[in-house]
Amino acid sequence: EHNGGHLSTRLKGLDDALCGGIPFGVLTELVGPAGIGKTQFCLKLALLASLPEAYGGLDGRVIYIDVESKFSSRRMIEIGSKSFPEIFHKKGMAQEMAGRILVMRPTSLSEFTESLQQLKISLLQNQVKLLIIDSMAALVAGEQGQGAPRQHLLGWHISFIKSLAEFSRIPIVVTNQVRSQIRDEACQYSFQVQHREKALHEHTEYDSHLVAALGIHWAHAVTIRLVLDSKSGKRFIKLAKSPISPPLAFAFNITSSGISL
Ligand code: ATP
Ligand code: MG
Repeated sequence: EHNGGHLSTRLKGLDDALCGGIPFGVLTELVGPAGIGKTQFCLKLALLASLPEAYGGLDGRVIYIDVESKFSSRRMIEIGSKSFPEIFHKKGMAQEMAGRILVMRPTSLSEFTESLQQLKISLLQNQVKLLIIDSMAALVAGEQGQGAPRQHLLGWHISFIKSLAEFSRIPIVVTNQVRSQIRDEACQYSFQVQHREKALHEHTEYDSHLVAALGIHWAHAVTIRLVLDSKSGKRFIKLAKSPISPPLAFAFNITSSGISL
């Protein structure tokens, strides 16, 4: 159970399925192949968390752990000015919104680990309303070791990140790149619920490479998993794991105003 409160994604069907949006106090994972839109989704969430409450935002700061240097404040402002022209036409607003995003670029897992303790303090002191890690897999990719020792090391990080969410009561959104999951039989998901039991066994379709990289402990630590993928040139986002919803999928587009259903 999370602590109540959600960050609306402004994607109507998804917000409805999630009872309001990305929940506070737990981990939400965005997974999908390269170029599908995970970072675009994160940019939109960062923007939404920093927007004034009058516009449905959280009026807060955002800590954005940008592991692969893919964060773009220019793109975030483009999304903002197209989606909320009435806010962004005000003088200095774009700079103010961009200034609310604290971008960190750790170059190794150990550097990230060192910043975690500081992060814990910052989260409480600085009106931080969202933490994004884009991406977790990239963060651990350079680490030595395999199998049990590596998973033991990661286990500590995973527990720490999860506890950060619980104690700060903010949403933590983590991305991970996986190969496309589309196989022919996967079409049975298409835009409706057909196999309720799949929800219970969602981890069995979890990309085996990611499980190898981050371990099954990670798969279980995540409360919400959104899988982004494409089929026949159409992008869709699937709510693959949720304590409150069956698996559901929604077609989405990426335009100059960002991700939309
Ligand atoms: P990776 O795993 O490599 O980080 P990703 O899932 O984070 O990939 P994104 O960078 O979020 O992928 O998405 C890239 C896609 O976003 C591109 O395919 C591009 O089509 C789309 N995109 C980016 N900017 C715009 C824009 N201004 N207008 C329309 N589409 C855009
Ligand atoms: Mg990305």
